[in-house]
Amino acid sequence: MTITTSTSAPPAVRPYESYVYAYPHKTAYRPLADRPALRDLWAAEPKDALSLYLHIPFCEVRCGFCNLFTRIGAPEELTTRYLDALDRQAVAVREALGDEGPVRFAAAAFGGGTPTFLTAGELERLCDTAEKRMGAELRSVPLSVETSPSTATADRLAVLADRGATRVSIGVQSFVDAEARAAVRPQRRADVEAALGRIREAAIPVLNIDLIYGIDGQTERSWLTSLDAALAWRPEELYLYPLYVRPLTGLHRLGTAVGPDAEALEQTAWDEQRLRLYAVGRDHLLAHGYEQVSMRMFRRADAPREAQDGPEDYACQTDGMIGLGCGARSYTAGLHYSFDYAVDMREIRSIIDRFTTTDDFSRAEVGRFVDADEARRRHLLQSLLQAAGLPVADYRARFGTDPGADFPAELAKFAARGWLDRAAPDGLLRLSPLGLAHSDALGPALFSPGVRAAMAAYERK
Ligand code: SF4
Repeated sequence: MTITTSTSAPPAVRPYESYVYAYPHKTAYRPLADRPALRDLWAAEPKDALSLYLHIPFCEVRCGFCNLFTRIGAPEELTTRYLDALDRQAVAVREALGDEGPVRFAAAAFGGGTPTFLTAGELERLCDTAEKRMGAELRSVPLSVETSPSTATADRLAVLADRGATRVSIGVQSFVDAEARAAVRPQRRADVEAALGRIREAAIPVLNIDLIYGIDGQTERSWLTSLDAALAWRPEELYLYPLYVRPLTGLHRLGTAVGPDAEALEQTAWDEQRLRLYAVGRDHLLAHGYEQVSMRMFRRADAPREAQDGPEDYACQTDGMIGLGCGARSYTAGLHYSFDYAVDMREIRSIIDRFTTTDDFSRAEVGRFVDADEARRRHLLQSLLQAAGLPVADYRARFGTDPGADFPAELAKFAARGWLDRAAPDGLLRLSPLGLAHSDALGPALFSPGVRAAMAAYERK
């Protein structure tokens, strides 16, 4: 593949446009006019290596940076009603998958929100829904669970370990108490350390720690303090997230009082701070025996096999996903769908209430069709944003074309900016270190005009 390069100075690029963890983003979803039946949607899909995701939209506090679909607390038996609805949904979805061919889940995850907001007994029930309703063999496949310092209690962790959890991911964000406060996530380091001790005692094979850089007042020294505190636990994985201040989040409402100002000058200084702290964090982890998997993800090089491989036979670029719960997405080859979506707390509460009173889960409500062009973009995006890069032969085997022929302008632009690794072996499209650092600019540059327009027209609520 030939990529045109330019020697002129690259234009200034904002490095932090958006985190592309899924494409198309939910803000490009719309109510589906004919509410297609799940049975029809899944009829012709391969179902022998699905991924199962259960979404628990409850947290004890709302972190200032968070725009995930979650609410604070759960009054009046709301968790019970939510789990009842989740169970009804699981029955309907499993029925829609049919029994004509093999239905098998190759990986499972409980996310949120904070799944461990549920009590130990409720977590047992959640596992029962996954196993008995959906048929997922949780003890035989990778099972990842998100947790928080205050909810990672011994009884909950014991349930998760017993039911087959292979990975626990804890959002710490910062080991410096003042930084945690500045990110509107009040917590004490002593409580965080105690939670990490309980997780290690539970002997779940993979521990992931999430940290954030770019917090107001954070310095290279304090960032290294957090990184070293995390490294002391020898986590199998570490995710380093740049801080974003997104619309409708707590930090956004607080404006300059807590978060960095979004005005041009401050924005540039903040971009520079984040790029600097990213490089410090990356270099520190590489020097401590970690490999870079993507801009955010680092893996301990000598971690056990569970951490090295991920799900054995699930490929996120191609295989289907079943999401249960009101914030979860599901993917068939041709349609991505979910329940409604919001960031504002009042809207979230009313969507959760509606979910708990829903009886008919047999249809897709909100979503976006993924045509051949979008499937190519998604494949390119999800592979290119991994440090290992995109084997061109895989892309060609799936689509019959080359990424260089499908996306010549985009790839030429990336090459001109120095984002592609010129030393990559033939047949491998791989980002350079500069490209990886700019993943949050590169990803959005691959969005289609249609998705871009839908996201721009989305009315935030
Ligand atoms: S960051 Fe995690 S713990 Fe904090 S509000 Fe969001 S989902 Fe809940």
